[in-house]
Amino acid sequence: RTPEQQALIQGWTPPEIDTTKPHSARMYDYFLGGKTNFPVDREAAEKTLAVVPNARTAARANRAFLLRAVDHVARLGIRQFLDVGTGIPVEGRNTHDAAQAVAPESRVVYVDNDPIVLAHARALLSGHTDGVTAYIAADVHDPDAILAHPSLTETLDLGRPLALMTLAIFHFVPDEDKPSDILGRLTDRLPSGSCLILSHLTADFDPVANDSGAAVYRKSGIPMQLRSRAEVEALVPAGWELLDPGVEVVSHWKPEPGSALPDPGTIGCYGLVARKP
Ligand code: SAH
Repeated sequence: RTPEQQALIQGWTPPEIDTTKPHSARMYDYFLGGKTNFPVDREAAEKTLAVVPNARTAARANRAFLLRAVDHVARLGIRQFLDVGTGIPVEGRNTHDAAQAVAPESRVVYVDNDPIVLAHARALLSGHTDGVTAYIAADVHDPDAILAHPSLTETLDLGRPLALMTLAIFHFVPDEDKPSDILGRLTDRLPSGSCLILSHLTADFDPVANDSGAAVYRKSGIPMQLRSRAEVEALVPAGWELLDPGVEVVSHWKPEPGSALPDPGTIGCYGLVARKP
């Protein structure tokens, strides 16, 4: 364990970690069954579970989609990954785990703006010795800072195809923050053959429950905007092509053969993979 993790476990919290307000990364960790969360996060997560009883299933389905989508683009030949809105590491279920299982030389840059993710970043930086992983503390609202960061330019070759990953992050970017412009700036310079992996919460299937869940986040000070299928599809940069099966509920996007598919209403999260021709 790192000193930061040990300190967190022993109950000492670094001052940059705000334990007075719930954070999305820590609530997601709670839904996934992790231990990197505080009473405020558990309280907000429980309020969410009261109106969205399947939030745990949805979080697990989203993480499983992340791993299947990374596996998919790795098999298409992608060896570089830029994972924006990384989340707290999940043992054996991170982007580099899935990518390096296909190709050990895969290179991954993680980006998150939450100090709790930074405190655990060392767990993300321990991939296969043939590959490279790096971590950048940055906000998705500043794509230019991400793309120009020395840790990115030292790790990734922006002249070669890469997979930009924005999973379960753009529902924290409301329309007034111009999410399409942000995605445009992140993808404009990427070469042909690059991929976008995106997932996004929706109220299309169970509007009452999911809108109430989003309201819990907003009341906790976390901006959240759910989007319809058409609105999620509109986030795909112009000219990029949606790969089969298009915008699909995460659990239904290329499911493991033989796996039981849940009711989409219990998931409420779309996933997609697109490619720059
Ligand atoms: N992508 C992971 C984790 C999703 S949880 C997965 O799908 O499994 C959402 C993550 O996005 C959290 O770690 C949160 O800290 C991060 N996040 C939210 N808003 C952000 C922002 N403006 N800039 C960077 N990261 C952000």
